[in-house]
Amino acid sequence: MKVASVIVDVPTRQTDRPFDYLIPERWRGIIQPGMRVTVPFGARRLQGFVIGVKDHSEIKQLKPIEHVLDVVPVLNEELLDLGRYLTETTLCFAISAYQAMLPAAMRAKYEKLLRLTDERKCEALPDDLKPLFANRVEVAWKDVETAGLWRAAQRAVQQGVLEAVYEVKEKAGKKTVKHVVLAVPAEQAKDALAALPARQKDVLSFLLEKEEAVPVAKLQAALGVSSAPLKALVGKGLIAMSDVEVYRDPYEHRTFQPSEPPTLTQAQTKALAAITASVRAREHRTFLLYGVTGSGKTEVYMQAIEEVLRQGKEAIVLVPEISLTPQMVERFKGRFGPKVAVLHSGLSVGEKYDEWRKIHRKEVQLVVGARSAVFAPFENLGMIIIDEEHETSYKQEEMPRYHARDVAIYRARRHRCPVVLGSATPSLETFARAVKGVYELLELPERIADRGMPDVHIVDMREELRSGNRSMFSRRLLDELRLRLERGEQAVLFLNRRGYSTFVMCRGCGYVICCPHCDISLTYHRAGERMKCHYCGYEEPLVPRCPSCGSEHIRFFGTGTQKVEEELVKLLPKARIIRMDVDTTGRKGAHEELLSRFAAKEADILLGTQMIAKGLDFPDVTLVGVLAADTMLHLPDFRAAEKTFQLLTQVSGRAGRHELPGEVVIQTYTPDHYSIELAARHDYRAFYRREMTLRKAHGYPPYYYLTLITVAHEEAPAAAKAAEKIAAYLRKQLSNETVVLGPVASPIARLHDRYRYQCMIKYKREPNITAALKAVIDRYQADATHGGVAITVDTNPYMMM
Ligand code: ADP
Ligand code: ZN
Ligand code: ZN
Repeated sequence: MKVASVIVDVPTRQTDRPFDYLIPERWRGIIQPGMRVTVPFGARRLQGFVIGVKDHSEIKQLKPIEHVLDVVPVLNEELLDLGRYLTETTLCFAISAYQAMLPAAMRAKYEKLLRLTDERKCEALPDDLKPLFANRVEVAWKDVETAGLWRAAQRAVQQGVLEAVYEVKEKAGKKTVKHVVLAVPAEQAKDALAALPARQKDVLSFLLEKEEAVPVAKLQAALGVSSAPLKALVGKGLIAMSDVEVYRDPYEHRTFQPSEPPTLTQAQTKALAAITASVRAREHRTFLLYGVTGSGKTEVYMQAIEEVLRQGKEAIVLVPEISLTPQMVERFKGRFGPKVAVLHSGLSVGEKYDEWRKIHRKEVQLVVGARSAVFAPFENLGMIIIDEEHETSYKQEEMPRYHARDVAIYRARRHRCPVVLGSATPSLETFARAVKGVYELLELPERIADRGMPDVHIVDMREELRSGNRSMFSRRLLDELRLRLERGEQAVLFLNRRGYSTFVMCRGCGYVICCPHCDISLTYHRAGERMKCHYCGYEEPLVPRCPSCGSEHIRFFGTGTQKVEEELVKLLPKARIIRMDVDTTGRKGAHEELLSRFAAKEADILLGTQMIAKGLDFPDVTLVGVLAADTMLHLPDFRAAEKTFQLLTQVSGRAGRHELPGEVVIQTYTPDHYSIELAARHDYRAFYRREMTLRKAHGYPPYYYLTLITVAHEEAPAAAKAAEKIAAYLRKQLSNETVVLGPVASPIARLHDRYRYQCMIKYKREPNITAALKAVIDRYQADATHGGVAITVDTNPYMMM
């Protein structure tokens, strides 16, 4: 195999194909698909992924590969195929797909080393490598390369004697511990003993006994020696010191309660049996585990994982970033101990890389992580679980714009194993598939231990206004809060983050101005005082009075958590409050710290945004308050009602999970909206039916597919003109049943100094769609390189802005 096909690290349409390079003699048989290399490209030198090797190329004068960056492939065959699938379905560049699968540490140019996996294994090295590793546990990559010892090094890596590592230089993150180890064979050390002074003799004897590298501090403590005898022994070449990198375990300072699996309820047993049957039969199936909050879904996941591990296989558990709380991690670590790697965005680059390495080296069998953990390089997958499957954070909002659910199902098909989607409020797409029998529905209809669902009270904020209460707290909510303070119980207050756009709502009657064509709220634009629809472009002037009731309280603006806190302090001066939002949780570890303070009852009220909505489980929380249910309901997004229903159900689920019964107060100006009413009644199925009817009537998913095209340019007219052209082109290419809406200004009309316009395609069956979209991308990517418009195509949009 003399030729390698390489995807180079330049994310443009023109370079989005494999380029052939000659494999120099010394690397033949070494370079394999899935390894990274550097290659000359024009005048530049680029990184790239080898995606295939072959004997011949069409190209006559091949340039040679310059360097090899990996000793063994970092992407296996399955992941290489998955990359191809992502490029086809999300229309991304191949290089973006491959890079999304690797930790950031491997994307940048970090120092690379070859390291002995065990300091004592120097003898297991092939002879030609031994001189390089004499007195050293690690050797710079380039030294091995210069010495022409690649092949030997690769074999040693494959045998597990050496390991390739990227030295991530982090000021705070990197952790090494100075170790000391024998530098000569044991026999030789024994011979040397007699001639040594007492202290040195002690040290050497100690090391002979230990037969492994010992932390210097430990040795000094054990023998009560200073560093002098160590230095002397190093000088004599008998021992060596090395900085041994230890895994930066972000949870190492925590102890985990080991947990024993409880006896399952009947419903849990039934669900578990269906899943484990699929594991044992090595059959791909997708299950929807639909269970109310607190019904024991997580317990089912954990026992299913036990079965997977018993089969000698591996499992991935995806949880949304915001619910990757210490509590969640604790549950999995408690049950599975060191078999678990945890991947979340709070980890430093180095920490993430450590966790990835544990997976790659097969030191762990289970990964719990956010979205990108779906790419965990396991080779013997037995199950993928997606908890809170309805969460939109499973969709990546940059290239590759993949949905973790699709990737999970793709991988599980290949590994012939089940996917388990869990939720108390499944996405409409998923539930519709379960109803049709595409997914298998498993239900946990009741909470564990006969705990009832909490009582939910809807407070009509229009009434509050009418009776003269202009505060953001209703009388009911305040009374309930006071009661909790008296009883020494805790409360959680939830405020939805303010959206980018502003809808117009009447505080007098709750009326919201909507598009007559699209059934979404119109967005207020200060320029020209106009109301606009961000799907179809409909607009009208802002009205000074409510068209429904004539009130002048027609503007509604959201408030921030800080303002809520200030008001709360005034109203309840004795209450101890913890505020959790982007401002108070920016610092690393702050999130965890605030939660543990709340758990320790150092506060009465936890006030926060989305980030407190899920996963939290505090025994003394008996009240959950939602300050303004409307802020999410009126986003210009066809999923606004679904998101509202999900969110209200999730936050209500935080109350009364233990012995104490829970209550929920939802404040709203739209008390009779079905998403709010049905969430209060815990009636998912009724919501599902109602919402499906509307989706069908207005042509939205899951009845129709959507694609969103966004065009951005520094000059608004240029962006608008390009969007016009794209819309016209698509209308010509696509069938008559397909609808191309727009172009219109995006809800976020300007981002990073670029004006944004968008078109939306709604279609049911459209064989030409991929080809047409590719043509659009081809045409405009070329423009982009001349400083023109930037275009993004989202084939399954969740962010409608
Ligand atoms: P969910 O994931 O559906 O919200 P959890 O798995 O967190 O539900 O279960 C809720 C609570 O009930 C947890 O404290 C859990 O430890 C406990 N639990 C789950 N299953 C059982 C069971 N079979 N017996 C006793 N307690 C259980
Ligand atoms: Zn009104
Ligand atoms: Zn419209």
